[in-house]
Amino acid sequence: MADFFDILIVGGGPAGSTAGTLLAKRGWNVAIFEKEHFPRFKIGESLLPGSLGTFERMGVKEKIDKADVIVKYGGKIISACGTRNNRFLFSDVFRCKFPTAYQVERSMFDKLLLDHAAESGCHVFQGAHVTDLAFDVDGVTIHTSDKRFRGRYLVDCSGRNSLIGSRFKLRQNYPHLRKFSLFAHFEGVEREAGIDGTLTQMIRGKDQWIWIIPITAKKTSIGVVLDAQTFKKMKLEPAEAFDQILQENPEVTKQLLHAHRVTEVHATGDFSFRNKRFTGARWVLAGDAAGFIDPVWSSGVFIAILSGENVADMLDRVLRQPERRAAEFTRYERRLGRVMDLYLKFVTAWYTQEFAEVFFHPQKFFQLVPAVNSVLAGTEERLPEVRWRLWIFDLLVFLQKRFAMIAPRMSLLPK
Ligand SMILES: Cc1cc2nc3c(=O)[nH]c(=O)nc-3n(C[C@H](O)[C@H](O)[C@H](O)COP(=O)(O)OP(=O)(O)OC[C@H]3O[C@@H](n4cnc5c(N)ncnc54)[C@H](O)[C@@H]3O)c2cc1C
Repeated sequence: MADFFDILIVGGGPAGSTAGTLLAKRGWNVAIFEKEHFPRFKIGESLLPGSLGTFERMGVKEKIDKADVIVKYGGKIISACGTRNNRFLFSDVFRCKFPTAYQVERSMFDKLLLDHAAESGCHVFQGAHVTDLAFDVDGVTIHTSDKRFRGRYLVDCSGRNSLIGSRFKLRQNYPHLRKFSLFAHFEGVEREAGIDGTLTQMIRGKDQWIWIIPITAKKTSIGVVLDAQTFKKMKLEPAEAFDQILQENPEVTKQLLHAHRVTEVHATGDFSFRNKRFTGARWVLAGDAAGFIDPVWSSGVFIAILSGENVADMLDRVLRQPERRAAEFTRYERRLGRVMDLYLKFVTAWYTQEFAEVFFHPQKFFQLVPAVNSVLAGTEERLPEVRWRLWIFDLLVFLQKRFAMIAPRMSLLPK
């Protein structure tokens, strides 16, 4: 006999813990299967204010506030050529509800969320690798190495190698986003005082960008995103390529004067994709298992938590009124697709030089930048006052691209 649950969740990252916590709080019998034993290393450390309302609903915000996290006030974009920079603060967004977010060490943060899911009533199985699954009209059966489990619905939160996405061949890569990333943690990185020391720094070069994220009182996450082809052409091992890129950037080296690396250099590529569908008769995808766009703008964990929350609310309604399933699943597909489209647009724009040129001139477009910030904060992109300003911002980027009439051209090459 297989153990039975209302909901089976594969993956104990932020998407799985969010969905599990909220479903368990509604009284459903939920199991989360996580193949690793937490804590485990994970990249994706810069969060958005748009998740804070969900943390409150989950009852986990106080625990995060007490943990070794950095309260983040916004971000700072610096041109690698050193000529311009632009600081944006979450407090500037329209109808600002949460003026801060968090920078977190994911090993600690993911464990905190997963432990909270267990305390909220979820059955959490760690070291439980889901290796097979089968659907029928009444539900789903999954297999781990030593056991079978049965549930009414399966929520796939297994991350970028989505179990369901691979099984049903749903993956579609974004052809214009063939990126590669190298990253590591450091200690001893120079930090500014006050809120400036909490910001995510994005150092924008011509064909690459570097993030610098303070994640604990001591540790800083540093990474680079570049074209996969450029990395191949370097013909270097990841650690050598990473060191070379950092050393070529004076904006980085001046902060690394007294720093040392405390983890290995990690490398990952081919991460930008979206699955063709997010739902099937007995399954739903959430978080990276549905799709991941790009590290820039920190949309990953935000979308993981948003989709985890939406799935929990939706499945709660569907379990109570099964006849609503088709309509609910369609609405979820549409909503998640819309959020992903919005970030895709901003990610695509980020990799054009014109976007940087317009964005680096906030004083000229002070009415527009809060609108852009609203998207970057993960808050109410559908507010009318945000929508028309975003439209004008896009127009300015377009004019800059065609006629360079909004801002002077920049080299973006490190000097
Ligand atoms: C280079 C890079 C930088 C990034 N930087 C940021 C950032 O600064 N800010 C941000 O918000 N996002 C960032 N992201 C994205 C972020 O890492 C993800 O969006 C986020 O982790 C998604 O959460 P998730 O819960 O969907 O998936 P994950 O966090 O990937 O969790 C999935 C879990 O499922 C488990 N699992 C997988 N398969 C199975 C299985 N078969 N059985 C059982 N368990 C399984 C895994 O072990 C894992 O713990 C970055 C991504 C990359 C690639």
